This record gives sequence, C-alpha cells and structure tokens, in this order.
Amino acid sequence: MTVSVVLFTSDLRLHDNPSLLAALASADEVVPLFVLDAGIESAGFAAPNRRAFLADCLADLDAGLRERGGRLVVRSGAVVDQVCRAAAESGAAEVHLAAGVSAYAWRREDRLRAALEADGRRLRVHDAVITAVPPGAVTPAASDHFAVFTPYFRRWSQERLRSVRGAPRVVRVPDGVGSERLPSRKDLTGISAGLARGGETAARTQWSAWRRGGLAGYAAGHDDLSGDATSRLSPHLHFGTLSPVELVRSAARQGGAGPEAFVRQLCWRDFHHQVLAARPESADADYRTRHDRWRSGGPVEEEITAWREGRTGYPVVDAAMRQLRHQGWMHNRGRLLTASFLTKTLYVDWRVGARHFLELLVDGDIADNQLNWQWVAGTGTDSRPNRVFNPVAQGKRYDPDGGYVRRWVPELDGLEGASVHEPWKHRGTAGAYPPPLLELSEGLARFKRARDLG
Ligand code: FAD
Repeated sequence: MTVSVVLFTSDLRLHDNPSLLAALASADEVVPLFVLDAGIESAGFAAPNRRAFLADCLADLDAGLRERGGRLVVRSGAVVDQVCRAAAESGAAEVHLAAGVSAYAWRREDRLRAALEADGRRLRVHDAVITAVPPGAVTPAASDHFAVFTPYFRRWSQERLRSVRGAPRVVRVPDGVGSERLPSRKDLTGISAGLARGGETAARTQWSAWRRGGLAGYAAGHDDLSGDATSRLSPHLHFGTLSPVELVRSAARQGGAGPEAFVRQLCWRDFHHQVLAARPESADADYRTRHDRWRSGGPVEEEITAWREGRTGYPVVDAAMRQLRHQGWMHNRGRLLTASFLTKTLYVDWRVGARHFLELLVDGDIADNQLNWQWVAGTGTDSRPNRVFNPVAQGKRYDPDGGYVRRWVPELDGLEGASVHEPWKHRGTAGAYPPPLLELSEGLARFKRARDLG
C-alpha cells in the first residue's frame, strides 16, 4: 500500500481541488490533513469570527470525506512538525500542497520541503488555488507585477483558466493515523451574533442560489447598501470552500452585465494578491508613501474609539461599523466609506483601521484587507490617491431610502427617508444619537494641508 498526505490550507473543499486529486492519484491511500497552525495563532491572526468559520469548514470537510469513505485528520501545533509526524506515522512517501501566495506560506513551504527531504520524503507543491490566476502568471513588460488595476484586468481576462475538476468519489485513509478533536464554534467566545455559516456545503448552496437569483442584477445593485445585493461569498473565497476558477468560469458562461461586473470584482482579488506576492512588505508598509504624519495620541484615541464603536455621528459610517461588529462582515461601499472617514476625514493611520477590520472580518485577508485599506488611504494603487468620500453625500446616494442606516442605527428609526443621513437637522427625533465628531469641512481642510494639496 502506498500513502500520500494532502495538506489542506486555504483550499478547504473537495470540489476542484487539484492537490487532493493529485494526492489520490499518487497513492492507494491518502491522509487528508489540516494543521491548526500555532504560527497563525501567535501572530494574532486567528480572530474569533474566522476561527468559528474555520471550525464550520473543517466539520463540513470531515463530513464530506466520511461520505467518501475517509475522514479528516486534524492536528494542532507547528505545521512542519505536524506534517512530518503524520507522514512518518502513515509511511507516506509524498506530501501534496497547493502553493501559497504570501511570504508566510513560502517560508512554510521551504521549511517543510527541507524537513521532509531530510526524512527521505518529497513535497509536491501544486499551482496556487487561492486566486483564479496565480500571482506572477501575468506581468507587464518591465515589472514583476501590475501596479494599476485596468491593464491587469485586460491581461487577466485573456488568460486561459485551467478546467474545473469534480470532487473525488472515494477517499481511502490509512488506519492508525489519529486525529485531534475537531474544533467547534461552541468552544469559542467573542463571535459576532450574526456570523455566517462556513463550510463547502453552505458555500455551494449559497453560490448556486445567488447565481440564479442575484448575479444578473449585480451590476446595477452591488452598490446599493440597503439592497444588500452582493454575493457575500468573500469568506468562502478566503477559506477556499469555493474555487475562484469555478466562479469565474461559471459567471463568464452565463454572460451579461451582472456576471461581467462580478468577474471584474473577482479580478480585484487576484490583483491585490499579485501585488502582495511581489511586495510582501506592503502588508504593513506604505506601497507608495505620501509622507503622511498621521494623527495619534490623546483625543485622537477617543475619535478612533468612536469610529470603532459606530458613534461618529455620521449615520452611514456608524451603520457600517455596527454591521461589522454584528455580522463580522461589511458591505463593500461601507468599507470604502468607513476607511475614508478614518484615514482622510480623521487623518488616522490606515494600519489602525486595517487592524480593527482584521479583528472582526470573517473574510479578513492580508492581501485584500491591507491593500484595500492602502487604496482608500491613497498610499496604495488608487490613481486618485487624494479622493475623499463625503459620508452624507454617499449615504444619500447609496442608501437613498435610509433603510441601511435605520437597520443598524435604531436610534434613528424615527427619521424618514434620506433625512436619516442628516440627523443634526432633526434634533428632536434623533434621540440618543451623538452629534457629529467633527465638521466634514474641518477634516477635509486638515487632510489637504497634510497632503500639501493647496
Ligand atoms: P461581491 O461584491 O459579491 O464580490 C465578489 C467577490 O469579489 C468578493 O467575495 C471578493 O472576493 C471579491 N472582491 C470584491 N471587491 C473586492 C475588492 N475591492 N478587493 C478584493 N476583492 C474584492 N475583501 C476580502 O475578501 N477580505 C478583506 O479583508 C477585505 N477588506 C477590505 C477592506 C477595505 C477597506 C475595503 C474597501 C475592501 C475590503 N475587501 C475585502 C473587499 C470587498 O469589500 C469585499 O471583498 C466584499 O465586500 C465582500 O462582499 P461580497 O462577497 O458580497 O462581494
């Protein structure tokens, strides 16, 4: 009997999983392994919402493997040690893994390769499946990555994607390879009350329902805050319970304005991943410095707390920040507005906001979060780095009936229609809702001075 190990990372699915299929093709039996990585825990990246979602994903993966005669083996600790141990226990000759796209993942691969080879085993790294087009697969003539989205999108759209593979029918797992108890949501505290459910089964159900009911209207509706008409697939893409190649191919087949707009958004994901892969330091350092001397200390801390808690006095900003806390997710338009408010209106370092988002977002992802924050702060890839979103105008435009604000800021329930975006004009009705933290014109003038915009 020959044995291989397949190490799941950000590909927690049975459908369209090339590493799993390669492992199955390479041996009679396979150890499907997931390691709860102590490195990620100690780096503070394991926020409760993502841990809960991950627990759902692992339970569902285990159930799917059991339906096929197998099971999931879960271990916790240092990844390299745990993989080597599982390989030794099962007598595996090979370990299969999808390539990572971050500096952390590459270091892990290198250490794993060295440790396995020292033991007479082989690491087989397959194409990255986190993105539809692997980072570095398309590059401009004179650089290792695209720094501007539109030309990247043009090239990306011409790439031939690999074909989508089905789920395996049978998975044989060798006896005698023990698993720790699977983590469970029930063991965790600090989870958002409205957190979505994880796992490939939930992901596929959500995708097929949305493909039938939401995709066609996506181009027209994706910015409508109260319409809530986006796919909400971001956590599934982050944990790899859905394959981006499958989504792109399936949407492109459907055709029309909605699917085209959706595919463009999926390309934004790939765009940020290829930037981070080429410039790993941009997870923390300005991609393009604007020599900002961000405000901090004393009273600014109180402003940051008000922002975090949804008490800025600007209803659409507060609604979005409360949605984040309640659901561990926020509408993209809300992310743009709240990030602009923090970095430009309050002139606070984007890293402060990015950290808060990562503490709560179920889809919290280093590439997408840090580089979107940089995009909004004007230190990233936006070709208009000094644009400032006006939360009142944006609220009226993207939440014209005020439904989004009223849902998340019940203090403003008494205000009708778009009047909810300017509660200071209706003091009597605004109840306990706070007055604005500052005048928008004051924030704008400060930002212009700081960026030397005359
Ligand atoms: P849809 O509108 O249905 O889009 C489909 C998919 O396209 C999304 O699931 C997502 O994978 C991708 N996508 C859409 N917009 C973007 C974008 N601007 N950048 C990258 N991918 C995109 N997305 C994350 O997945 N993780 C994050 O940590 C994250 N942090 C963000 C922080 C800020 C400040 C901003 C402005 C945006 C951030 N985004 C992040 C991008 C975007 O807001 C979310 O992907 C989107 O809101 C998820 O909702 P959805 O699945 O309904 O998206």
